[in-house]
Amino acid sequence: MSFEGFPVEVSPIYEGERIRREDMYVEFGGGKVPHKFELVLAASMEEVEDESVKIVGPDLSELKEGESYPLGILIKVAGAKVEKDLEPVIERRIHLYTNYVEGIMHLNQRYDIWIRIGKKAFKKGLTSLSWWGKALIRLFKAEMPFIEKMEVTFITDPEKVKEWYDKAIEIYNARDARARAIRDEDVDTFYGCVLCQSFAPQHVCVISPNRVSLCGALNWFDARAAANVDPKGPNFPIPKGKCLDPIKGEYEGVNEVVAKRSLGAVKRVYLYSMFEYPHTSCGCFECIAFYIPEVDGIGFVHRGFRGAAVNGLPFSTMAAQTGGGIQTEGFLGVGIEYFRSPKFFQADGGWARVVWMPSELKERVKDAIPPELYDKIATEKDATNVEELKKFLLEKDHPLAAKIREMEAAAAPPPEEKPPEAVPAAGVEITGVPVGAVPAAGGGVRIILQGAKISIKKLIIKRVEKK
Ligand code: SF4
Repeated sequence: MSFEGFPVEVSPIYEGERIRREDMYVEFGGGKVPHKFELVLAASMEEVEDESVKIVGPDLSELKEGESYPLGILIKVAGAKVEKDLEPVIERRIHLYTNYVEGIMHLNQRYDIWIRIGKKAFKKGLTSLSWWGKALIRLFKAEMPFIEKMEVTFITDPEKVKEWYDKAIEIYNARDARARAIRDEDVDTFYGCVLCQSFAPQHVCVISPNRVSLCGALNWFDARAAANVDPKGPNFPIPKGKCLDPIKGEYEGVNEVVAKRSLGAVKRVYLYSMFEYPHTSCGCFECIAFYIPEVDGIGFVHRGFRGAAVNGLPFSTMAAQTGGGIQTEGFLGVGIEYFRSPKFFQADGGWARVVWMPSELKERVKDAIPPELYDKIATEKDATNVEELKKFLLEKDHPLAAKIREMEAAAAPPPEEKPPEAVPAAGVEITGVPVGAVPAAGGGVRIILQGAKISIKKLIIKRVEKK
């Protein structure tokens, strides 16, 4: 494939290229920009103006250096084999192919995209979004030959982005809703995705009817369509085989395929639990589930949440701990649609184990939360640290309240035990109030003094020779 005449190179070697803030010319989307999206729509042959790239709003050269802007990427595709089921599959590859372009960094997906254009690339001549569009068309047509016609529109006009953003959200929601009608028990085959192995080499997404991909972009129907139309691509069937544990979601076929595709790094996977053998997480997850040992509960934080979660950690810190394709007990990347799954953390207690999530996320998945638990799940408005969370859960009589009381009682010192009096040695004066005593390691008693002053009249330090 030739990219002759392009101002920058286009090659898989640029995948993984990071553009830091000080090196960026401009950025599109990301946390500071509320409206951004990428959307692929299947259309008829007549509706697509092949190989055309349109820009609605200011182009790169008209933007102010160092600023963040809204962006909509709208792609229309047509072809005899192009069907609606393939829209999300093609859409997910925007991330991959954009990252082949030298000087463009693309992160995340759907309504959450974040793109940076590097200063160096801009200086080399990447002064128009049309280069990016042309590169996408060539790459898509070469890698997905069933796409016969393709047209790309970049929308940078803020009003138009907002208009299309609302439509895009409706389309994403409709796609997600399709998979809700079937259950894991109804099918013999799940599907896998290894698109993210380029940066998380052991990661294998297992996509079942009740478990959407953790990036949220592919459900079971999408992955099936992708595996059928492009059998050599990153999506493949997983015959689920014998069910080894229906509660934890362990399947013989899944274990076998995951072991093979992760080159033996991951041998067992529980699809409905974040403990023991959780699903691996790459880095594209929409949300992170995190265990909070102090209340024995599960918290969630989504990518767009700014600030620290109730455990004191922001999304980015937890993402570093969760991602990379390794199994991390107590941390798990999930897609937002998984909140609506009947298998939602089934082995860990499901919704009854959920204790905290940002208010924005709680509102977004409101329809999935059992009504009797809705007010018992804290947000950042109710609790910003674990002590406040405990208090909230006890006050609201959360299903974990009894467990929290038990844990607190076990940790408290025996109330009736009277602390022994401290006897000062000669030459040592101690003043203060003894407030408690706990057994000391190795025997004896450790006395706790509050507000104590210790004055020592004479201190002799002697060297002791080792025999
Ligand atoms: S997160 Fe999973 S489904 Fe999504 S692109 Fe990566 S590997 Fe594929």
